[in-house]
Amino acid sequence: MTAPRLEIDLDKIHHNAATLVRLLANRGVAVTAITKATLGSPEIAGVFHQAGLREIGDSRIENIKRMRSAGLEATFSLIRSPMPSEVPSVVRHADLSFNSELAVIRLLSAAATQNGRTHGIVLMVELGDLREGIMPNDLESLVAQILDLPGIVLRGLGTNLACQHGVQPDATNMAMLSSLVDSIENSFERTLEIVTGGNSGNLQWALNGGEIGRINNLRLGESILLGRETLHRRPLNGLHRDAFTLVAEVIESKVKPSQPWGELAQTAFGPSPSVPDRGSICRTILAIGHQDTDPSGLEPPLGVTILGASSDHLITETTECLTVGTEISFHLNYSALVRAMTSPYIAQIHHHRRPMPPKNNPIK
Ligand SMILES: *Cc1c(COP(=O)(O)O)cnc(C)c1O
Repeated sequence: MTAPRLEIDLDKIHHNAATLVRLLANRGVAVTAITKATLGSPEIAGVFHQAGLREIGDSRIENIKRMRSAGLEATFSLIRSPMPSEVPSVVRHADLSFNSELAVIRLLSAAATQNGRTHGIVLMVELGDLREGIMPNDLESLVAQILDLPGIVLRGLGTNLACQHGVQPDATNMAMLSSLVDSIENSFERTLEIVTGGNSGNLQWALNGGEIGRINNLRLGESILLGRETLHRRPLNGLHRDAFTLVAEVIESKVKPSQPWGELAQTAFGPSPSVPDRGSICRTILAIGHQDTDPSGLEPPLGVTILGASSDHLITETTECLTVGTEISFHLNYSALVRAMTSPYIAQIHHHRRPMPPKNNPIK
């Protein structure tokens, strides 16, 4: 079979998605499935659809176009603030975008009006993680400036934590988001229908039984795909962590010294690592490297230890030498998964027992 390849168990992804949807529904929270780690895979998005998810979010408009043209029926949100240069495409292909800049919202308004469309926006609020978002004190005046823009509908507020600085979603910052929603609603006498509290890092907060406030949506990617929360990367009970397996092929396997010899200078990826002398070991090379995945995010099977990697080679130590052509399967963390899913060198094999949903006509 072709290698390297990602083996994708769609049934496990279905189980993870359906489980999280059910757990959060008990708390009055809806799920937007985030597809950015999958390059907008229509197969995986199709499974989200089967699991009852009708809200899909992605940070790339190309991925949204890909899922739309595959016939997937859903509401699509662009969850990264649109680049001014892509605004016409955003208005055309996304139902909703997340925004924090008045200039971009004005461009969205102009493009929507030109195309005879309306475009929904969610305003992102900065609550301490210091990635995207409007400072809370500036929110009211921004809302005042966008409410009358033609072609734009303010659908709600959101925030994103646990990304840039790992700031934890907690009772305090989530209550802050709820109170901003209340105050905007009071000031402008309107209802904000979407209050999206965060990503997989919010699961602990959302499921621990505390006050949920006005939050009625979470955007989940990693927890559905890899079965872990993201604050401490702890496994989530009852979810599969092995829906994805990366399979690579052995191209050399020999007994060699554990230490290099000769004068040492830099390697292809920086300073030479220091290596203790452990005598001769079995060094097994696999045909996969930095161009295909994040080697430091691979979890090898028992008896295989990763020693290092270059662009195209993964150097491992194996307890015994292996015949060339032997395949080794790895589990992946989020970083290794994103790189593998988006690498043109890695084939994808889907395993699925349920029938896929019917395809509808692509929306142009
Ligand atoms: C990536 C992303 C998410 C999803 O994050 P996960 O940790 O994969 O659940 C949610 N919201 C925004 C704005 C994102 O960029």
